[in-house]
Amino acid sequence: MRSKNKKSRSSEAAKSDFTPFASTILSADRHRLNGHRSALVWFTGLSGSGKSTLAHALEERLFVDGVRGYVLDGDNIRQGLNKDLGLSPEDRKENIRRIAEVAKLMVDAGILTFAAFIAPYRESRRFIRSLMRDWPYYECYVKCPLAACEARDPKGLYAQARASRIDNMTGITAPYEEPENPDLTLETDRRDVQECVDILIRFLMEKDILTLASRS
Ligand code: ADP
Repeated sequence: MRSKNKKSRSSEAAKSDFTPFASTILSADRHRLNGHRSALVWFTGLSGSGKSTLAHALEERLFVDGVRGYVLDGDNIRQGLNKDLGLSPEDRKENIRRIAEVAKLMVDAGILTFAAFIAPYRESRRFIRSLMRDWPYYECYVKCPLAACEARDPKGLYAQARASRIDNMTGITAPYEEPENPDLTLETDRRDVQECVDILIRFLMEKDILTLASRS
């Protein structure tokens, strides 16, 4: 208990020791340089619903048009920045918190950022939205019935979970709290990848993220 108090006092002291440096280059300058705005699109959904497939297909399509996009992908981040985290509820929240902070920096840097992470808890997704309150942020629900995700099982995780070889499998032994009010929903058992990417591009144009070059 004593050491916990001591720790929180020292972290409070540390916070007040830091003074953020205000960059002379503004987001608007970076957007002009790039010819498009930046934003965060967060793909949430069950494992196998198509988050990574769609995020990468969108990045590839936009790359051809000279858009600076980047995918932050669950498994990649868990092999580096978040390799110390497991699948417990606390670790999952910390996983999302760190990724959201990284994504915010990337959006500030002018990159159109696509985060492909299950983010199963509403509380974590609320955190992302509040962290991004001063930036364009869109939650995209990649919706696909559990049975269809399980039939796809691109990483063999459902088979392992059913055989009790892995714990905390979202949808099987861990919860997925469906988004209540996503900005966009893509039903990947009803539309193919190209159709979903078309919808995403139209959505980003409607939100004025991709139209800067044509308007200036
Ligand atoms: P996640 O990132 O959500 O775990 P993945 O993108 O790794 O899922 O895997 C989704 C699987 O579903 C891939 O094999 C992909 O080819 C397939 N799939 C079928 N239809 C779609 C679609 N409309 N959108 C995305 N993926 C789809």
